[in-house]
Amino acid sequence: MNKTITVLPGDGIGPEVIKAAQKVLDTVAEKFSHQFTYQNAKIGGVAIDEDGTPLPQETIDLCKKSDGVLLGAVGGPKWDTLPGHMRPERGLLGIRKALELYANLRPVTAHKSLLDASTLKREVIEGVDLMIVRELTGGLYFGQPQERRQENDGESVVDTLYYKNYEIERIIRQAFELARLRRKKVTSVDKANVLESSRVWREIAIAVHADYPDVELEHMLVDNAAMQLIRDPKQFDVVVTENMFGDILSDEASMLTGSLGMLPSASINGNGPGLYEPIHGSAPDIAGKNLANPLATILSVAMLLRYSFLMQEEADAVETAVTKVLEAGYRTGDIAEKGQPVLSTEEMTEKVIEHI
Ligand code: ATP
Ligand code: MG
Repeated sequence: MNKTITVLPGDGIGPEVIKAAQKVLDTVAEKFSHQFTYQNAKIGGVAIDEDGTPLPQETIDLCKKSDGVLLGAVGGPKWDTLPGHMRPERGLLGIRKALELYANLRPVTAHKSLLDASTLKREVIEGVDLMIVRELTGGLYFGQPQERRQENDGESVVDTLYYKNYEIERIIRQAFELARLRRKKVTSVDKANVLESSRVWREIAIAVHADYPDVELEHMLVDNAAMQLIRDPKQFDVVVTENMFGDILSDEASMLTGSLGMLPSASINGNGPGLYEPIHGSAPDIAGKNLANPLATILSVAMLLRYSFLMQEEADAVETAVTKVLEAGYRTGDIAEKGQPVLSTEEMTEKVIEHI
């Protein structure tokens, strides 16, 4: 197959981990006889420096004209003093909006060979393999009004949790579709005991479930879900939830596995190109030193192959290679334990490529 990929290296360690990911993509193309064409574009700090904006129109146009977008990371101390609307992070929010990426997928897998690197007990995290599906373009973070007010009896403030029913339906449908590719269980997380929006969320989840009788559906209150993620994370397969609940739960869940350098993510919309990126930031402290762990970005490539290109076998090959490399004891600095030799970004990438 022929696929065009827009590559947004961004700032800090972004260009290093993106280079690693592209090498992996090249290897997949060669082994499975595909043709991947890359088009590079600017986002974040590098775009501010060169074009005066964190998200040039040209970048949006290139992304829209591609089959998938691969992003490194944006931001760094150099741009921290700029006003909010000029920050590198604006580029990221902007591209999510421009591509209407309403579903954010964050898999959390406890790699067997990294269990000791986690702060949690081995028996709790062993075998964890879950996916948080967070609604990304609506809910409490975008509802209007969002403002401070002067009232007769003093100042007040309002945020609004707003959804159109179709926005709830499409994210829940996405979760069921994903569950079908996995262990066929969806946990819908809400706060239906106090929020009207959650009661509608729950009604819609039940209605959509009728189309997926082969998938199990359970409802869980968000406070309980936060507790269960730490107490017994193995019970979860696909977790679907509102924007803010998902923001909090996905960060909580990411700590189950140990390192930021291991966790991929996908933001998709079902029709157009999806955006794939590691969940870590630009890590300015190690940028340019060939020290960054490339595995989060390489695993994001696996998600790109799986969800945007529907190349299951290719995605499996990349994920299996990562598992084998870890099993063989290869480590970058962030996941190495005492006494283990530490590989550079490039060496780690070579090891993954050897195993594909
Ligand atoms: P941002 O605001 O962009 O999220 P941050 O400082 O909050 O930045 P990161 O940039 O993700 O978060 O870095 C947090 C810490 O984790 C840093 O010390 C960084 O070196 C480390 N880190 C992050 N990603 C990696 C990686 N891929 N490999 C090794 N270490 C990493
Ligand atoms: Mg951060």
